[in-house]
Amino acid sequence: MNIQDRIKEILITIPKNVDLVAVSKTKSSEEIIYAYNEGLRVFGENKVQEMTEKQKILPPDIEWHMVGHLQRNKVKYIASYVSLIHSVDSMKLIVEINKQALKFNRIIPCLLQIKIAEEETKYGLSETEAHYLIENSIKFNNIKIIGLMGMASFTEDELKINNEFKKLKFFFDKLKLKFHHLKILSMGMSSDYKLAMKNGSNMIRIGSQIFGPRN
Ligand SMILES: *Cc1c(COP(=O)(O)O)cnc(C)c1O
Repeated sequence: MNIQDRIKEILITIPKNVDLVAVSKTKSSEEIIYAYNEGLRVFGENKVQEMTEKQKILPPDIEWHMVGHLQRNKVKYIASYVSLIHSVDSMKLIVEINKQALKFNRIIPCLLQIKIAEEETKYGLSETEAHYLIENSIKFNNIKIIGLMGMASFTEDELKINNEFKKLKFFFDKLKLKFHHLKILSMGMSSDYKLAMKNGSNMIRIGSQIFGPRN
């Protein structure tokens, strides 16, 4: 199956309230254009340099999402154009994003990455840390935390994945009672996005299911 057919197949399975981020890391600009021509406008990358190179040559109405771990010293390269950062995981990074966004007179929307997988993942905040960061980021005028992102364990065990998503949705709902501006729950990738949507995800990040396997 080609990119066009895979996109059509995915689009019919996702409801209107769920946003699709096409994760195009390692894929060429040509492949991104195939997806663009199918109507996709939101693309996710995990490396600053790769995203910036693509952003320069691809259509200006593409929304670029940073989904990978972001180093503070690289924020300056994406601050002028990035439309959502999914992977905020420290106060220092919040301070830097705010500082760089101010230079462009922008407010950069961000998600906090929450650690939901029991093992392997290096990145992500605990619930306590996330609560603290949301509370303390309100004073910054050029960054806005608008939701949470989580990655489930890399496993075949659907019950385990289901429990991880359920836990994140529960935490998201609890936070929303206090912080009414939270609206995005980014969870679900190629292998688990259906499970994520069942558990209340409203933003899914799909790479290989659209573009084929990565090398
Ligand atoms: C690569 C990546 C994805 C997409 O992964 P697939 O399994 O190819 O869909 C989603 N989210 C993040 C954070 C990623 O790094």
